[in-house]
Amino acid sequence: MKEGIHPDYKECKVTCACGNTFTTLSNTDTMRVEVCSECHPFFTGQQKFANRGGRVEKFKNKYNL
Ligand SMILES: [Zn+2]
Repeated sequence: MKEGIHPDYKECKVTCACGNTFTTLSNTDTMRVEVCSECHPFFTGQQKFANRGGRVEKFKNKYNL
């Protein structure tokens, strides 16, 4: 990185929608995020958007499988 043209990175307090807070490096003091490593489905193993009704489900319902 060239000196002078990039902002200095500093500790940034991140507040997640789930209530979790943590610090990371950014050029701002605070940040708000929708998901973090504590509540993201990939890390929690929970399916937040499960069963939207895909084609397979429609097919099964149609033929009562
Ligand atoms: Zn979170």
